[in-house]
Amino acid sequence: MTNRRKFLQSSAAGLAALAAGHVGAVAATLPAAAPAAKPLVISTWDAGLAANLGAWKLLSQGGRALDAVEAGVMVTEASQNCCVGLGGNPDRDGIVTLDACIMDHQFNCGAVAALERVKHPIQVARRVMERTPHVMLVGEGAQQFAVAQGFALEPQRLSADATKAYREWLKTSQYKPVVNIENSGNRKVGPVGGPNNHDTIAMLAQDAQGNLSGSCTTSGMGFKMRGRVGDSPIIGSGLYVDNEVGAAAATGQGEDVVRMAGAHTVVELMRQGLTPTAACRAAVERIARIKGDKARDIQVCFIAVNRQGQHGAFALQKGFSYAVCNAETQQLLLPSDYLLR
Ligand code: ASP
Repeated sequence: MTNRRKFLQSSAAGLAALAAGHVGAVAATLPAAAPAAKPLVISTWDAGLAANLGAWKLLSQGGRALDAVEAGVMVTEASQNCCVGLGGNPDRDGIVTLDACIMDHQFNCGAVAALERVKHPIQVARRVMERTPHVMLVGEGAQQFAVAQGFALEPQRLSADATKAYREWLKTSQYKPVVNIENSGNRKVGPVGGPNNHDTIAMLAQDAQGNLSGSCTTSGMGFKMRGRVGDSPIIGSGLYVDNEVGAAAATGQGEDVVRMAGAHTVVELMRQGLTPTAACRAAVERIARIKGDKARDIQVCFIAVNRQGQHGAFALQKGFSYAVCNAETQQLLLPSDYLLR
């Protein structure tokens, strides 16, 4: 099995390998706080490599960051190998419910939560942003809106891997999330409540005009309570963009990101002059303080980009990485520094 913890080479060969579905192995050397060439796209975890390519197709042709962050995460939403989108793990009642949000460079934002049977929740989030006076629609209302907007309802069924994972979980039916400690790669059907029982893709882009946008989409924590919504669709928690300062996004234990308004906090820390990495670190340290002894039970990770195109990340625990793509680096998976040694 491919070792996805290795890093993809910053080269045309790397891009070709990726396009062919092979993830190669190479060290990442880009200093995370170095100014990056515009346009730029970064996203969470190794699934971000393929997602960035989707975004890059638009960005490299002068496309808008907003369009890029939508197209990019759609790649992941469509993948049945990743716990994002309808291929993701279900809630404890066996139903996949999806959360997503999107935000542009002018504080426009849209979100959906607990949305069922729609393949691309990020597109529905964008419609909420552009075609309603609201920011968020949830559950049945979100689905009604999606249908009214012409989105198809997919059959209510679990992917083969999700079925396996759910059956395994039903043996104990215990909700004990220990989230994304390790880089995920493809779906994990390991011990439920083990290291990788869910995933999220969050993406931040800066286009050639210098405008920032972000997106975030997830099936949330596997085997969550019915109706549970995490940080990912919450503007200010899972994602925040302030075009004058920067953009940030989160992945990991959503409840702990929500309680300190994670992505917004990272952006405000950048406003105070911190680099993206330092801002992500300060936010993680705050979570660690709040959690105290329980910090070791969770994983929380942030990515950020500032107005100057510097990017960075920081995680609570080892194992997080983020994917970077611009004209210089092409495709790169960077290991994130982390707090708990
Ligand atoms: N933050 C997501 C949630 O809590 C999960 C994840 O990032 O994988 O739903």
